[in-house]
Parts: sequence; C-alpha cells; structure tokens
Amino acid sequence: MSKYWSSKVKKLEPYVPGEQPKIENLVKLNTNENPYGPSPLALREMERQAGDALRLYPDPESEHLRNAVAEFYHIDRSSVFVGNGSDEVLAHTFQALLKQKKPLLCPDISYSFYPVYSGLYDVECCEIPLAEDFTIRIEDYMRDNGGILFANPNAPTGCFLELQQIESLLQANRESVVVIDEAYIDFGGQSAVELIDKYDNLLVIQTLSKSRSLAGLRVGFAIGQKNLIEALERVKNSFNSYPLDRFAIYGGAAAMSDRQHFETTRKKIITTREWLTSELTKRGFEVLPSRANFVFARNERCDALELSSALRRKNILVRHFKQPRIDQFLRITVGSDIECGQLITTLDEIADL
Ligand SMILES: *Cc1c(COP(=O)(O)O)cnc(C)c1O
Repeated sequence: MSKYWSSKVKKLEPYVPGEQPKIENLVKLNTNENPYGPSPLALREMERQAGDALRLYPDPESEHLRNAVAEFYHIDRSSVFVGNGSDEVLAHTFQALLKQKKPLLCPDISYSFYPVYSGLYDVECCEIPLAEDFTIRIEDYMRDNGGILFANPNAPTGCFLELQQIESLLQANRESVVVIDEAYIDFGGQSAVELIDKYDNLLVIQTLSKSRSLAGLRVGFAIGQKNLIEALERVKNSFNSYPLDRFAIYGGAAAMSDRQHFETTRKKIITTREWLTSELTKRGFEVLPSRANFVFARNERCDALELSSALRRKNILVRHFKQPRIDQFLRITVGSDIECGQLITTLDEIADL
C-alpha cells in the first residue's frame, strides 16, 4: 500500500491465477490447460506472421479471426467480438452490459474472476447459492436483476445446465442480458450459440485457451446479436485499439478452421475424463458429473488440502480452493493418459483409499 495509490486500487482484490511454476517434469493438472498442443496449422500460420509485417499495426477489427469464428458457427461476422483472452472479453462485458442499477446475479460457486470484475467496475453482485448437488437452479435466477452471468459447464464444478433451461431463463428475463461463459463447452456440452438469433439478450463467451490449446496466445470471443456486440466494441475502442496481435489474429483463425485437430483432441480428452472419473470413483472419490476438461472430486477419507500438498510433493499439481462449501474438493485437469495414469498411481502410493 502506498500513498500514491488511488482509493480504487487500495480496495481491489485481484484474481489469483493457478500457479505456473518453473519446475521440470511437473504433472501440471491445476489450470485446465490442454495436454495436446495447438493445431499444427495454427503454428505454421503464426510462423508466417513472424516477419517484416510485425512492423505494422495489426487489423484493429481482427476481421480475419472474426470471419473464422463466424464460419465455425455459421453466423455473421458482425455477431462476433474478439478479445485478448476471454478474460478481457468478460471485463468489457461487465463494463458494457452488466454494470446496471440492479444487481448482477452469479452463482456463489463459479469462475472466481467474476467477483473481481465486479469490484473493478463497481458492479453489485448478488451471489445465488448452487443447489446441494452443485447444479445451477434456474428458478433462483427468476428475479429482478441487472444481468445474469455463469459458466456453462460451470467452473470449478464441471456441471452442465441443459440448453432448454437456459432458454427458459432467457424467456423469463427479457429486461437484462444473460451472459453464458462457455470456456469448457467443447468437452461435451451443447452451445447456446444456437439461441443467438432468437434472443437479443443473450451473450455467449468462449475461449481458445482450453479446447484449442492456445492459452498462451490469449484469444477469446463473444457471440451475440449486433446490439450487444456494438456495446463491447465501444468499450474496446475506448480502451485498446489493438488487443489482438498478428499471431493471435492469424493463429487463432487457423485454429478455428482446423476442425480435424479440434475434434480428435477434444474427443481424447473426453475419453480420458471418463477413465479418470471411474478410477477416482473406485478409490472412494465422489466425482461430480463433468462436461469439462477437469473433474471436481472429494473423498471423505482424506482432507483435500492435505491431499493436494502430498501430490505436490510428488510433483503433481492439482487445484484446491479455500472456499466454503468446496474446500474438500480438488479440481483436477484432464491431462494426457500418461499424466492421469501418474496421478492415479501416485494417489495409490500416498493415500490409503
Ligand atoms: C479459463 C477460463 C476463462 C479464461 O479464459 P482465457 O480466454 O484464457 O482468458 C474464462 N472463464 C472460465 C470459466 C475459465 O475457466
């Protein structure tokens, strides 16, 4: 704290990302990264960009990338907004659409960046408790609000809310925007993008960090009707004209176009997730049904924090949240078959399950 800080900065409670330690041979299952690496076509495209063209500013509208996203979903480019990671897209969404007189509704257990943005943008956030089984109960969101935001599949639970339910929510909530953060949608959920034409109050946010294995590139996007996209563009053009560099624009577009790499890698992750779930269940874990690239699991026979520390000593990283209701759970990223195998073998060594 310093006298030079603004009163705003003094009050901020920044997001704490999962660690990125510089230790070799780490089995890194703590930040939901994709073990399979990006599309080779995307890598080649980025290599092509590493030349004299870097002298020039990139396209401020990122048209090439927006076209690729639009093509993937068979929608118009004007329905697509892109940003420097979906975190940035979310930030702009708070400022452009969710900052209203009435409070924003969010689940009590969801992506922990949401309360951080609420603090940054002075958005009053009303936390709606998840049901006992950690699912979202849409009835609880049928009340006056200045916006609704949740992840689907939710994080860190992995639980998926069926599209029908989202549609009921959209129908009952015509006065404010419903934002669905679909960071994990490609691992088995059905995207709400198909509802965009029908609802002018729906914004869907996705990222290339998880299913397209490009967390290091920082590309995210939002899909919605033009009225919503225009609001995001107004904020973006008042903040940073060039949030996506040439690598992100061209590499991201190539990743969206490479359907084959996308399909094979996401299917492998789904298969490994089912294997990991059954192995953990055999060892007495309760594993929430996951449609994401992670599982959320607890075991009555061992304390979650102790177990995560014991795994860490064996060079295996998983994520533990010191948060009420979920402090006995571990969130485990679905890595490669080898990594998940190592996790199971190590669990057998260190714990009497
Ligand atoms: C990973 C994640 C994001 C952020 O993705 P980036 O595009 O890497 O910023 C957003 N929402 C949820 C729920 C996530 O898990």
